[in-house]
Amino acid sequence: MPLEAGLLEILACPACHAPLKEQDTELICTAQDCALAYPVRDGIPVLLVDEARRPA
Ligand SMILES: [Zn+2]
Repeated sequence: MPLEAGLLEILACPACHAPLKEQDTELICTAQDCALAYPVRDGIPVLLVDEARRPA
């Protein structure tokens, strides 16, 4: 389910405040030294560091 248009532009990584990019069912932090992946559940981004997937 795609995110609402314009939503990505106003969202930021809660850990480092970098912009996010949508990738599959996740929002990925664009900061290379952070790069946390946040899940999107039922079209709602879960921007919680505790819920984020750490980069491999
Ligand atoms: Zn980040």
